[in-house]
Amino acid sequence: MTVESTPSIARVREVTDRARAAGRRVGFVPTMGYLHEGHASLVAAARAHDDLVIVSIFVNPLQFAPDEDLDAYPRDLDHDLAVCTREGADLVFVPPVEEMYPRPPRTTVTVAGVSEPLEGRSRPTHFAGVATVVAKLFAIVGGCRAYFGEKDWQQLRVVQTMAADLSLPVEVVGCPIVREPDGLALSSRNVYLDAEERAQAPVLYRALCRGAELVAEGETDPGRVEAAMAALVAEAPLATLDYVAAVQADSLTVDGPLHGEVRLLGAVRFGRARLIDNLGVTVPD
Ligand code: AMP
Repeated sequence: MTVESTPSIARVREVTDRARAAGRRVGFVPTMGYLHEGHASLVAAARAHDDLVIVSIFVNPLQFAPDEDLDAYPRDLDHDLAVCTREGADLVFVPPVEEMYPRPPRTTVTVAGVSEPLEGRSRPTHFAGVATVVAKLFAIVGGCRAYFGEKDWQQLRVVQTMAADLSLPVEVVGCPIVREPDGLALSSRNVYLDAEERAQAPVLYRALCRGAELVAEGETDPGRVEAAMAALVAEAPLATLDYVAAVQADSLTVDGPLHGEVRLLGAVRFGRARLIDNLGVTVPD
């Protein structure tokens, strides 16, 4: 049996309200579809903790700039429903754009601070689009635990900040990054890579690992860590560096020498594909 899917906000409300009224815990996994094992791990985490598991599949136009890949974004609903069925989801919400945005939204959500550096600098309208659609999805699903991948570390911090600031009845949970055996983080956008680009793509993860080694050895100068990571990326001829950064994990900024929980993040272009990845490391005492 294939999992139930619905295009309807009203149906999602009905199912989640009924579950909560019966004292059941609701788990929610928002995605843009073209599901891979990274997404599957989020559904599995929800399944392990919650009684009712909802997955949403919505390629959100608001978070794409006009020159980005909205129309080309890969889609395969049959495959996605098979993954959701396999992982034991209870309901898959697949709204058409008109269900989510019957008119262009007049109300949008922006999260100051944590949205601004890194991805925010490269994609200035992206996180307002993400925060707006996630706020809307949280309003549709209601009180729940929501599972996000650490793959999009800055997005996770944006959504956690929004949920806290607006007192949304949602506990935002971060889950570990799922990688290919050679270190490349799974991403729906990896299908854009040709064979040569795919062979060089793990350079981003290798650069993050090099940065983590330096920090673990006691390097606390973010500039030196960033320079070492950038030098490694430069060894891949097909890679164009957007940024690499060593920042405090919670704020995504630096406030002097690195300390405590640090996050190393990077974005690299390979042809049509823009890959992002990140890694956590703790500065030794
Ligand atoms: P997306 O469909 O790309 O918007 O991603 C939906 C959710 O899956 C987000 O919370 C992502 O962070 C998460 N995700 C994507 N790739 C991975 C991965 N390789 N490992 C873990 N989570 C991931």
